[in-house]
Amino acid sequence: MTNLTDLTFHELEALIVSLGEPPYRARQVWQWLWQKGCRDISEMTDVSKALRTRLAERATIAWPRVVRVRESGDGTVKFLLGLTDGEAVECVLIPEKDHYTACLSTQVGCAMGCGFCATGMLGFRRNMTPGEMLGQVLVARQYLLDRGEALSLRNLVFMGMGEPLLNYENLLKTLEALHHPQGLDFSSRRITVSTAGVKRHLLDLGKTGLCALAISLHAPTQEKREQIMPAAARLPLGELMEILRQYPLKSRESLTFEYLLLAGVNDADADARELVRLLSHVKAKVNLIVYNATPGLPFRQPRPERVLAFQNILKDKGIVATIRKSKGTDIAAACGQLRAEADCQAEGGA
Ligand code: SF4
Repeated sequence: MTNLTDLTFHELEALIVSLGEPPYRARQVWQWLWQKGCRDISEMTDVSKALRTRLAERATIAWPRVVRVRESGDGTVKFLLGLTDGEAVECVLIPEKDHYTACLSTQVGCAMGCGFCATGMLGFRRNMTPGEMLGQVLVARQYLLDRGEALSLRNLVFMGMGEPLLNYENLLKTLEALHHPQGLDFSSRRITVSTAGVKRHLLDLGKTGLCALAISLHAPTQEKREQIMPAAARLPLGELMEILRQYPLKSRESLTFEYLLLAGVNDADADARELVRLLSHVKAKVNLIVYNATPGLPFRQPRPERVLAFQNILKDKGIVATIRKSKGTDIAAACGQLRAEADCQAEGGA
C-alpha cells in the first residue's frame, strides 16, 4: 500500500492518472491531505466515490502514531511518535512570542555519533520517509488545533534526530511538499535545515532555495570538532568553510552557525577568538546554545558569566551572536536530548 503522504504532488498526479482520472483531481486530494488534515480517503467528500474506492484499493493515509506527549513548564511539547514498523522518533513544539516552531527529526537514530547528543548514542537505525517527516508537522498542527491554541505553527527546523543531509532525497521531497501552495504552504524563510556538513549535498541544497541553512559547528578548530563530533573527520573544517563561501544566499540572508557551549571543552575566550577568525569570510550569525546535562554523557553546562563572555567576544568583532534559551529541559526536549526511548510499543497510545 502506498502512503499518500509519502508522495510529491507530481507523484500523486501520476497515481491519479494511472487510475484513469484527469490530473486535476490530484489537487483536490492534495488539499484534503495537507490543508484539511484528512486521515481517511472515504472522507474526501468532493472526490467522486468511484475514485475514492479505487484510491483506497491502492493507498492509505498513515500519520505517525502519537505514543506519548510530554509538556514542559515553559510550554514546550515533546511527542514520542511510533512509526509503522515499530520504530520511534521524537519531535518538539516550541512556543515563541507569536507562533510555534516545530523541531523535526529526519532519521531514526543517527550515524554521526556526536559525543554530546543523546540521539548519537542510539546509532543509526534507518532513514525516515517523506510521509514520516511531514507526519510530524501534521501531528503538531493537529495538536494545536485540538487545544484551540491561538498561536499557529509557523516555523520548522530540521534539528531533531538525525543528519538531514544523509537522508537527502527524502528531505528534498519533504521540502517540496512543505512549499506547495495548495498544501502546507511554508515559505523557505520559515524552514531551516541544520547539518553537521555533508559534502556531496551542501551546495545542491543551497541551489534549491527551499530552506535556510544552519551549520552545527560546535568547535572552532578541526581538532576540537573531531573530539566531540567524530564524523567531522570526513569533511575537514577548511573544506567545509570553502564550500560555505560558495553557498548561494539570498539578499539579507546569512548562514547560521550553531555552537553548543560545553564547559571546559569549547567555551574559552581563545575558542571565541578562533571562531571569529573562522567566520571572517562568510556572512555568519551565531546561535550559542548552552548545553543541557544529559544522563550518561560526560559534559557540563558552562556558567552564565562564561556564556556572556564568549558572546561578547563575538559581538565585539561585529558577529551577530544570540544565546538560544533552552526550552523543554525538564522533559528532555532541548537540543541534543532527543532519544525516543524504544518503549513505545509497550506504552500504546492514541
Ligand atoms: S547532534 Fe545531530 S548530527 Fe550529531 S549525533 Fe545528534 S542528531 Fe546526529
